[in-house]
Amino acid sequence: MEEQKEMDPDLKRFIEQKELKKRLSAIKHKILVLSGKGGVGKSTVAVNMAVLLALQGKKVGLLDIDIHGPNVPKMLGVEGRHISGTEKNLNPYEYMPNLKLMSIAFLLAEPDSAVIWRGPLKMHMIEQFLRDVNWGELDYLVVDAPPGTGDEPLSICQLVPDADGAVIVTTPQEVSVLDVRKCITFCRQVNTPVLGVVENMRGFTCPHCGKEVNLFKSGGGETMAKEMGVTFLGSIPIDPEIVEGGDAGRPIVSLAADSPTKKSFLELVKRIIERTNTVSS
Ligand code: ADP
Repeated sequence: MEEQKEMDPDLKRFIEQKELKKRLSAIKHKILVLSGKGGVGKSTVAVNMAVLLALQGKKVGLLDIDIHGPNVPKMLGVEGRHISGTEKNLNPYEYMPNLKLMSIAFLLAEPDSAVIWRGPLKMHMIEQFLRDVNWGELDYLVVDAPPGTGDEPLSICQLVPDADGAVIVTTPQEVSVLDVRKCITFCRQVNTPVLGVVENMRGFTCPHCGKEVNLFKSGGGETMAKEMGVTFLGSIPIDPEIVEGGDAGRPIVSLAADSPTKKSFLELVKRIIERTNTVSS
């Protein structure tokens, strides 16, 4: 029997890159959600932004490449779901009519499994999520990247050279803001435009007396954005409903009641849409 010949690696790479380009060309806007460090609400912002865009009638994809902490399915209440398709053509999970979702969590056997991958493998996985997922035509692809400026944010910036840009999430206090400066410098080094900075967890309104308390200070992200010459996209208050909604799989923007927090997400998304329109025009 004739032995099957391995494809020439250069040819294989060439074909893969062409396929990646084709897949990405069907997506109008690509937004990378980054943060200097973990726990500042990056996934929360990515999830609520994607759901709001979908509720506004845009065709949206949400890609969770936080390989070590893929929390997006949990925040949307679709943990443990399985996806269909073939290795070369995976079907993203249809969360709602206009929102397709893909996460490493869908490929793990157990939700608690830890992924121990080295740099090149991570890059390969992220590339597969872009190239081999049947995203179809989208208005927006929102990518929830892992925190920091390591392998994965670098991979995504390299793999999506035509991204509209990064939305960088921070909390107001100086220790967090310091890491965001690094994140902005990183974007400049890899030629990814910065759409702007979001200050999350700014101020908390006491439910008993209605007084505003700045638990994590206030305005640090806004001041830093000015100093670094990047756009300030807005702030989101501390809201226990965000925590409850995140744990219960109900993003706050999908709740019927209008709240100051929902309004701040609406404002944020409005500014991001404006920024993507100016950056790409
Ligand atoms: P990151 O992606 O930066 O690690 P997450 O989005 O996972 O952060 O948020 C970390 C925790 O903080 C979650 O429990 C989330 O519900 C909570 N959280 C995020 N933003 C807010 C907010 N504005 N108010 C209250 N809790 C928040």
